[in-house]
Amino acid sequence: MIPKDHPRYKSLIRRERIADAALKGIVAMEGVGAHGRGEAFDYLIGERTTQSALLAEKTAAALFLNAKNPVISVNGNTAALAAEEIAKLQRASGAAVEVNLFHRTEKRVRMITELLEDAGADVLKGESERLLPLSHDRALCLRDGIYSCDLILVPLEDGDRCEALVNMGKTVIAIDLNPLSRTAKTSSLPIVDELSRALANMTEFCTNLKKDEAEQLISDYNSRSFLESAVKDIVENLSNALD
Ligand code: ATP
Ligand code: MG
Repeated sequence: MIPKDHPRYKSLIRRERIADAALKGIVAMEGVGAHGRGEAFDYLIGERTTQSALLAEKTAAALFLNAKNPVISVNGNTAALAAEEIAKLQRASGAAVEVNLFHRTEKRVRMITELLEDAGADVLKGESERLLPLSHDRALCLRDGIYSCDLILVPLEDGDRCEALVNMGKTVIAIDLNPLSRTAKTSSLPIVDELSRALANMTEFCTNLKKDEAEQLISDYNSRSFLESAVKDIVENLSNALD
């Protein structure tokens, strides 16, 4: 048991969730490594939502509310860390939820689907087809889901797939704590924040955002400036770290 008064309680709980999910086969071993990279970047940014990430989350909510066919793409790490937050964002945004895995097996797809459904999400089902311009199983998705969506949220995505989705003309919102990753750099809107913090904020904004403000946010945003702010926040945080 992790003591509740531990100063890094939330981070340790997330690590424990990833470890449990890896033992069950929900998270791939590669996903354990990816989580570690995320933890490191969260430490560097101060384990908090920065002002600029909050603005990115508000902008993401505006894009969701404006989309015709929004989809939330869920992988093993996302389901293990934030199945409930995904279900809540789905309810607030009206988006579809599709399971999409880099290390894909039918058994993992089934386990992740069950985890999401137990948390209250409504998960798209059907016959996956090789519809994305990528080699290997990363190309698989549903024709009525990711393939035909106009907006896709990709938490913890691989850079190649993010780029392929952007090239298909989709608005791609990435949640990735590493502002240097290809995912963050190629996405239409990078949210440099921890997954569960980002999802909770987006849900709140989806519930409260007014139409006028949403339109303003969409016309004003600049994806590059979110990356620049994140790097600046990390540098500032590091320069004060030993004080
Ligand atoms: P690319 O440069 O192609 O995007 P990558 O090496 O970043 O590749 P992955 O290892 O698949 O690709 O990426 C996982 C990403 O997810 C990492 O950048 C990591 O920082 C981020 N990440 C991991 N856990 C979390 C989390 N809980 N919240 C937000 N981001 C996370
Ligand atoms: Mg990445």
